[in-house]
Amino acid sequence: MRYQRSSALFREANTVLPGGVNSPVRAFKAVGGTPVFVKEASGAHFTDEDGNRYIDYISSWGPLLFGHAFEPVLQAVIQRAKKGTSYGMPTALETELASLAVSMVPNIDKIRFVNSGTEACMSAIRLARGYTGKHKIIKFAGCYHGHADAFLIQAGSGAVTFGSPNSPGVTPGTAQDTLLARYNDLNNVRELVAANRGEIAGIILEPVAGNMGCIPPASGFLEGIRELCDEEGILLVFDEVMTGFRLAAGGAQQALNIKADITAFGKVIGGGLPVGAFAASADIMSHLAPEGPVYQAGTLSGNPLAMAAGLAMLTEMNRDPEVFERLADKTAYLHKGLEKTLQERGIPHTINRFGSMISLHFTAEAVVDFDSAALGNNPDFNRYFHGMLDRGVYLPPSAFESYFLNDALSYEDLDNTIAAAEELFSNW
Ligand SMILES: *Cc1c(COP(=O)(O)O)cnc(C)c1O
Repeated sequence: MRYQRSSALFREANTVLPGGVNSPVRAFKAVGGTPVFVKEASGAHFTDEDGNRYIDYISSWGPLLFGHAFEPVLQAVIQRAKKGTSYGMPTALETELASLAVSMVPNIDKIRFVNSGTEACMSAIRLARGYTGKHKIIKFAGCYHGHADAFLIQAGSGAVTFGSPNSPGVTPGTAQDTLLARYNDLNNVRELVAANRGEIAGIILEPVAGNMGCIPPASGFLEGIRELCDEEGILLVFDEVMTGFRLAAGGAQQALNIKADITAFGKVIGGGLPVGAFAASADIMSHLAPEGPVYQAGTLSGNPLAMAAGLAMLTEMNRDPEVFERLADKTAYLHKGLEKTLQERGIPHTINRFGSMISLHFTAEAVVDFDSAALGNNPDFNRYFHGMLDRGVYLPPSAFESYFLNDALSYEDLDNTIAAAEELFSNW
């Protein structure tokens, strides 16, 4: 493939955008090379500025459950835009999308719309702190909750006590209120809680992790955390920005039958427009302004175009509830195909999968947490990424990201993807 025009556009972008992009993973830093610039997309495919066509496995990092330029969402946005694009006043649409979301997701009575997953998680934590009157939170290494200060934390030297900033600009004062735990390690969480008894407002996690590849929760892990939260008066915050309306209509809470106290959404709920949301029981949500004292606001929150897109998306999955099973079947098919060719070539690997999330790690070790996921962040992954890209398959450009399948993918697309992998691995 030729990437001439993408290269030129990237050089030009670098003169006015830091790193040439508006979100770091797009810059291909981890895998090297030039990011492809998208010209247009439809269904499961997109075309870049050089005219190359790809099968898309990131679906805008999750939102596009039915694929690109999905007609019901498209029409909803176009029709709504004709009536004005923003008012800063309430609309009936907000209540409509809220009611639908509340009817689909277990354990929530009320919802607040924001503009991104970052905002959703940031606000969920503020609400947890405001509700409990406690300061500290526990997060898990490798779980991503957006770029708010409280989440840009790595293990400090005394990992069992304090976190430390993992980005300049995050203050040590903020970092000391975020404790870092190992994913799938319940004892580690128990230790942290015991060492900080009475100080923890919330435990936040991805119920199925998708930001260190796909890592499903070990049996008993979430149940154990739920129990611990109940014993200690800690709020359990599920970051369902990735899993919400993707693993099931009711997200991971439905798929895994676990109750969270506060749930954060993003991605699918906006149908491809910038939407986030957080939701909880009426009691917890009553602490939020203007009903309660915990402040949170947004000029474009509940934006009519975004609400119309989200409403079309959620309406469509209610009309076609088999979509989740179809997606899981397609993902299992891809898993089987990749597994077969990797095995035949004797290439060490681990494939993790849950619903329509899947990731291939170039390590034979079980990938269950950040450290084991990091074993697969190696030159083999980069070769694989570029080898597939050159064969017209667009995978996440980082060993720490999950693929997100969309329902526009056909079995022919999946066969073509598996054939590309076969060709690549036969010359490995
Ligand atoms: C994408 C993501 C976020 C951040 O959402 P943005 O819309 O990018 O701010 C938060 N949590 C999880 C689990 C995510 O996957």
